Amino acid sequence: MSIKKQIYIGLGSNAGDRFSHLQAGIDAIHYEIGSIASISSCYETPAKGFEGDKFINACVEVSSSLTPELILSKLLQIEENYGRKRHNDGKYYNRTLDLDILFFGEQIIENELLTVPHPRIDKRL
Ligand code: AMP
Repeated sequence: MSIKKQIYIGLGSNAGDRFSHLQAGIDAIHYEIGSIASISSCYETPAKGFEGDKFINACVEVSSSLTPELILSKLLQIEENYGRKRHNDGKYYNRTLDLDILFFGEQIIENELLTVPHPRIDKRL
């Protein structure tokens, strides 16, 4: 039997119907990654690091036995499904849905794909 980990995923949206995007992201995480154990309140925060519209942020606690890499690829796919456009110029833009792995159990991950705990965790709490 695979062991389930407690994973915290941060959600943000600063474009279009922000609450609907967060709700759609939570539904997709529940369906694709694992059952949602808890959901934070929503917080409005200014865009940090670029001139953009205000974000609505939330965080969910998920119970999942998937690997961090598989979870990341599912999160990237969910972002794309909800209209996230990627620009490969290193700049930040408004986004319909941004999903980040904040914590993966107590695991520390540092590789070319993932840094966990998330490197900008202090800006997301
Ligand atoms: P972003 O522009 O924030 O959506 O960046 C997405 C990229 O950040 C992904 O393709 C990941 O390879 C990388 N990344 C590094 N650490 C994390 C993390 N903890 N959660 C999500 N993405 C991460």
